[in-house]
Amino acid sequence: MSAVLVPGGPGWASNAASGPFTMDAGWGAFHPRPSKPRFVVPPGAVDAHCHVFGPGAEFPYAPERKYTPCDASKHQLWALRDWLGFERNVIVQATCHGADNRAVVDALRDANGRARGVATVKADVTDAELRALDEAGVRGVRFNFVKRLVDTTPPDVLRGIAERVAPLGWHVVIYFEAVDLPELYGFFASLPVPLVVDHMGRPDVTKSADGAEFELFVKLMRERPNVWSKVTCPDRLTKSGPPGHDDVVPFAKRLVEEFPDRVLYGTDWPHPNMKDKVPDDGHLVDWIPRIATTADAQRRLLVDNPMRLYWSR
Ligand SMILES: [Zn+2]
Repeated sequence: MSAVLVPGGPGWASNAASGPFTMDAGWGAFHPRPSKPRFVVPPGAVDAHCHVFGPGAEFPYAPERKYTPCDASKHQLWALRDWLGFERNVIVQATCHGADNRAVVDALRDANGRARGVATVKADVTDAELRALDEAGVRGVRFNFVKRLVDTTPPDVLRGIAERVAPLGWHVVIYFEAVDLPELYGFFASLPVPLVVDHMGRPDVTKSADGAEFELFVKLMRERPNVWSKVTCPDRLTKSGPPGHDDVVPFAKRLVEEFPDRVLYGTDWPHPNMKDKVPDDGHLVDWIPRIATTADAQRRLLVDNPMRLYWSR
């Protein structure tokens, strides 16, 4: 029997990519010793945004990737889940794996029903491939509009894929930056599936949470009752810094209060592209009660909402 893997313990830290891969110089490997959170998440809590990387020797990184990360395996993810107090994970395909979803599918199959997935697919994906992903536990596809990370998908291709996954009951996860929302607003509002927006649409947190830029995002959620938001990644958005990420609180808190049934929380472990400021995952969990200030709001955010979106079947 192998020893139990514990974050911060033997075998936890990873600062290399296996197989023929070499982690990018300057890549910020995930936290070597994440703290135990003081905030106790409610029973059944879901970490609804996290990733696996490789391991490269088993699940090669995609030729078209824009970064080569450290390996971050399903075993490490399960160890972190238990350490932080979560019971389930939603694993989102990372861009370093392109549209090759094997690492995510492998993790889903290993999770005994305790994980669901979000895949990346191309226009030529077959219906049989979509059904196989569904059977493994995939419930959505992700499209990235952040131009520095990927070559973005043309809108008509995205619409075609959205129309094909709609009958499966899947949703579309979209990742964009706030400055690009005016241009994308009409397109997003016209898609025939539920939309889940990553990281609150990446607001500029030096602006006001009541200002025009964030107001447009709130308007999208108000007008479209099937738009959801992940209130995630304060570590990516903050200018004031850890551990409080104080400047991000008003944005997340506003969404949790105005749309208590359409918000999701996740750690974003292992924190792709964070370079030198990789967050302590325990601190990220301790951030939750600052944005969801009542037990009722916390239960919706961490349990009811992700269960409705990902585990309704
Ligand atoms: Zn992420």
